[in-house]
Amino acid sequence: MRGFRKTMGLVAKLIAIIFVTLLLVVFAKPLWNKYIVYPELEKDRTKLWKTYRKPKQFIGNHDFKGVLHSHTYRSHDSRGQLNEILPAARQASLDFIFLADHRISDQDSFPRGIHGMFDGILIESGTESPGAAMMVNPLKATIIDWKKERNQIIREVVGGGGMAFYLHSEENHDWGNADYQGMEIYNIHTDLKDEKNPVSFLINGMVNSGKHRHWSYRELFDEQTKITSLWDSLNNHRKIVGMAAVDAHNNQSIRARYLPDGRVEWVGSNAKTLSITKPGWKEKLLLSKPDVAGWAFKMELDTYFHSFNFVNTHLFGDTLSSRSLKNELVKGHAYVAFESLAQANGFQYFATDANGKLNAILGDSIQASQAYSLQAVSPFPVRFELYRSGKLIDSRDNSYEYKFSPDNKPGNYRIVARITLRGTLLPWVYTNPIYVY
Ligand SMILES: [Zn+2]
Repeated sequence: MRGFRKTMGLVAKLIAIIFVTLLLVVFAKPLWNKYIVYPELEKDRTKLWKTYRKPKQFIGNHDFKGVLHSHTYRSHDSRGQLNEILPAARQASLDFIFLADHRISDQDSFPRGIHGMFDGILIESGTESPGAAMMVNPLKATIIDWKKERNQIIREVVGGGGMAFYLHSEENHDWGNADYQGMEIYNIHTDLKDEKNPVSFLINGMVNSGKHRHWSYRELFDEQTKITSLWDSLNNHRKIVGMAAVDAHNNQSIRARYLPDGRVEWVGSNAKTLSITKPGWKEKLLLSKPDVAGWAFKMELDTYFHSFNFVNTHLFGDTLSSRSLKNELVKGHAYVAFESLAQANGFQYFATDANGKLNAILGDSIQASQAYSLQAVSPFPVRFELYRSGKLIDSRDNSYEYKFSPDNKPGNYRIVARITLRGTLLPWVYTNPIYVY
């Protein structure tokens, strides 16, 4: 009997040790992040922000900052409403949002859903096509018939003054198609898909969901070198504009809301209904006063704000209108910036003639004999990297300015700017190329 009790005691101890070890394994990294890594990142970021210097304005046009490829309640996997989207956009200082809601039927009408100017923020409706993902924003009242052949749809949308960009560049596309205008060179969702351990990403996100959420969200970040190489190679044939997608759904969460009949709907990941019940002890304990969107309980990871503040596309333009912004985007007058690291307004990339006069900006084409120098300026000290047709050919460390003479060498010249946090260089800005021919 004593032997049996002793053995049972040992087994219990063993189970306890295994349990505690497991807990340590699961929570060690999130806690290490919470108390060591993220505060250090925060400190370094504050230090970096203090080095902000407003660059001289070389490019005449205004820098409009916004997001492309975002979802709303018009998508089957989002519940996003204007009263959630707008405050988040304001908090992230956005000027525009180009939506790409999932298609609802074969006959897709435009404009629809959230569309227009709201408190100075422009929202343009659009669709993310089924199959090989594509974003279309026709920018006019029309109906797209998705039963038509894909390339014909692209031709019609672009020919009609609209926009057609390939999304999810990790997927197969008809890259040789002659009419699409650009592609994603970064997408938060694409980046999330390559995480080897999504469970530990989620646990880290839960442990660090408070003031460090922007860091826990960024744990998914990997430099998308395969996609940028593809982008470079496509640009050797014709201009393919690079843009960033937030692919915001605000749907990786557990939320609850009261229905008009008094029952409670629990909503889980991908905005799916988990259950509809009469309020019981769980609801009494967890639910409080509903927020503006009606949520009486929420545990969220990818709020609109954190997605809108993650990565932006900046456009140089003179008017905040869908048509004007679209025109600037398809010209490639655009750069991508990871805004939760640092705000990028002020960043510029352009070419000058022998007298130092600006004669082309990012996205433009210019004769080799006319491009005396390529210049970039940054509001923060960065490492400037210059790529010619996909190859790194020059770099400068810890500088606000960068100047390079292409010496009559044709090629597509683009800049990557990296900032340093915790001793690590992080890609911060990707410009579209200047095409020197
Ligand atoms: Zn999407």
